[in-house]
Amino acid sequence: MQKISVRSALSADQVGNQVKLEGWVRTRRDSKAGFSFIELNDGSCMGNIQVVADGNLANYESEVKKLSPGCSVRVLGEIVASQGKGQTTEVQASEVHVYGWADVETYPLQKKRHTMEKLREWAHLRTRTNTFGAVFRVRNCVSRSIHNFFQERGFLYVHTPIITASDCEGAGEMFKVTTLDLEAPPKADGKVDYTQDFFERPSFLTVSGQLEGEIFATSLGNVYTFGPTFRAENSNTSRHLAEFWMVEPEMAFVDLEGNMQVAEDFIKRIISDVLNDCGEDLQFFNDRIDDTVLSTLTSMADSEFLRVSYTDAIDILLKSGQKFDYKVEWGTDLQSEHERFLTEVHFKRPVILHDYPRSIKPFYMRCNEDGKTVRAMDVLAPKVGEIIGGSQREERLDVLEQRMQEQGLNPADYWWYLELRKYGTIPHSGFGLGLERILQFITGMGNIRDVIPFPRTPGSAEF
Ligand code: ATP
Ligand code: MN
Repeated sequence: MQKISVRSALSADQVGNQVKLEGWVRTRRDSKAGFSFIELNDGSCMGNIQVVADGNLANYESEVKKLSPGCSVRVLGEIVASQGKGQTTEVQASEVHVYGWADVETYPLQKKRHTMEKLREWAHLRTRTNTFGAVFRVRNCVSRSIHNFFQERGFLYVHTPIITASDCEGAGEMFKVTTLDLEAPPKADGKVDYTQDFFERPSFLTVSGQLEGEIFATSLGNVYTFGPTFRAENSNTSRHLAEFWMVEPEMAFVDLEGNMQVAEDFIKRIISDVLNDCGEDLQFFNDRIDDTVLSTLTSMADSEFLRVSYTDAIDILLKSGQKFDYKVEWGTDLQSEHERFLTEVHFKRPVILHDYPRSIKPFYMRCNEDGKTVRAMDVLAPKVGEIIGGSQREERLDVLEQRMQEQGLNPADYWWYLELRKYGTIPHSGFGLGLERILQFITGMGNIRDVIPFPRTPGSAEF
């Protein structure tokens, strides 16, 4: 008998087929007429298939009637057209084999709804719920879409290192990687002697693959990285993780305008793939999590992203008459309340802000002629704020060195990065998209911890 998924069992063209299904019981209901309905789910889709288990089954009284949420079973039977409402097919079981029981008294996922906080404590079981099944199917779809987008455009997928010795860009606090004995580290001149450490120097978990990505872009053309990224920032927000996944394209011979266009096309492509492939899951998010999800995504798929300079954005905020907790002032970074005002109240759609003050941006962003701004861009989305940060890179050796000095960095530490400018330098650009940020935007999930399988945040690394 052919094993099929619940997803395919739910389609009308399976009617008449003898099949095998395997999964977990969501509910069981007994009919007075002497048979039972079992709702079976295997994670292949949101829906369950209804299994009709007849009273004649050998183990009907001894086992079938004891099935409860969480039990795992194998069902053999025929797919028939369903009489019931809301489903096209069901399975007429000829055999129900129980793989494993789930004690009704202790199994946490009973009918009652649980808070997201509670479900986080049960990260080993939350994937059995409708919400998390949907989240992780969408996450898979987005990941596939990311690779497809770049692969179809001829970008090379490169794997940049996870362990790095350069605090690339001062992009945030870094996790140190060491094999030294923290109880009794070797010392030289009263300080920890890192020459005795594994890498013979201080080493960290990467905060970005960009600098290494630039090596590949300035030799092989357009490239992208897609991997785990670490930031030890001690911020307990709904938008920050200590470990997250970042996609970083780096493009040769591309300026900021080209960079913004790729970012826009990229996000639209992800959204249209999700709309095409995850309709049922998105409907669920729209019904249960955030009733603006579907309208936002469909309107975004075909509206142009606005491009607004940082300076104009500051003007808009200053003239808005809105009270903000953080003061709006040219030269300071925008806070999430400002970003949200722009996208949710003022423009009511995603916006790409560009040309930020040089004082608040990293050394590698290309300086403008005005001496005040750099060729930076951030893509802001309603509700989540920044989902992409990027820039055109400074390709002029002298300007780059000067910027490093300005920011208190030692050019010698970046010797290889500088050589990319010394030998055959080119204009190039790139950006970073936080996978979890765009997932928050797509699903409407309020907390970033609920769109990654096992969230790592201050004080929390269980599982
Ligand atoms: P933010 O200002 O939102 O903290 P950032 O400006 O520090 O972010 P970048 O260094 O520009 O972030 O990183 C590029 C992208 O990576 C961001 O646009 C965001 O989507 C994502 N990102 C950055 N930090 C985190 C984090 N701690 N957790 C999850 N995603 C993150
Ligand atoms: Mn940023």
